Amino acid sequence: MKISVLTIFPKMFSVITDWGVISRAIKEGKIVFEAIDLRDFTTDKHRTTDDYPYGGGSGLVMKVDPFFKAYDHIVEVNEAKPYVVLTSPQGRVFNNNIAKELSTHDHILFLCGRYEGIDERITTIVDDELSIGDFVLSGGELAAMVMIEAISRFIPGVVGDTDSVVNDSFYNDLLDYPHYTRPRTIRGLDVPEVLLSGDHERIELYRKKESLRRTMERRPDLFLKHEFDEMDKKALLLLFKELMSGVE
Ligand code: SAH
Repeated sequence: MKISVLTIFPKMFSVITDWGVISRAIKEGKIVFEAIDLRDFTTDKHRTTDDYPYGGGSGLVMKVDPFFKAYDHIVEVNEAKPYVVLTSPQGRVFNNNIAKELSTHDHILFLCGRYEGIDERITTIVDDELSIGDFVLSGGELAAMVMIEAISRFIPGVVGDTDSVVNDSFYNDLLDYPHYTRPRTIRGLDVPEVLLSGDHERIELYRKKESLRRTMERRPDLFLKHEFDEMDKKALLLLFKELMSGVE
């Protein structure tokens, strides 16, 4: 998969190119990544990307022309149109399902705004407008990086163990189960006994039960959406029994 971003701060993207799971995927060629400097598509000597708003008022607006020029260049070089995502607090709110859906595209282009945002005519080249939550950032770069990291987890081979993606929170409208590692006891806090039992079936049931418990307590909206399979039903009965007997 190829991921491009258009930004006035391409160097910010070293956060993903130099660190962690994504940097490895890029080095291994599972993701082709490029941060393109919007200023390379300006024509004046000051390489201007913003201007005053028509109609007056506060703030500056990003000019649409450099975005159009850069987009045309990207289409020409790749001989295909990328799927264009505009980062914006006004878009649909990004989530894990959207991340999974986006991971199926061959090429995604993220457009990063600054100041008051980009001239509205940008929408003529946009396929999807996405927000990372109901708050306002000063630029689209961090939002794009957040989305790129979540999307990349669904690209085959990026996360070594696909099981861990399937068990992650939200994958099946459930939150993840609690995790423990060594030591077995610390400050009087023990690891649940079942995890030391070596009984894989019991462990699976316990984890499912805890995943259901958390989702019910913390995210009833997800819990009600979840489709229960046979294993879920078994775990749910166990959970109800525990809750009714007051044992946790
Ligand atoms: N005036 C705009 C906000 C501009 S913020 C408004 O009120 O809608 C500047 C840029 O930051 C935006 O163009 C967008 O690229 C990015 N941005 C800000 N908040 C964001 C969010 N919640 N999700 C995604 N991108 C965001």
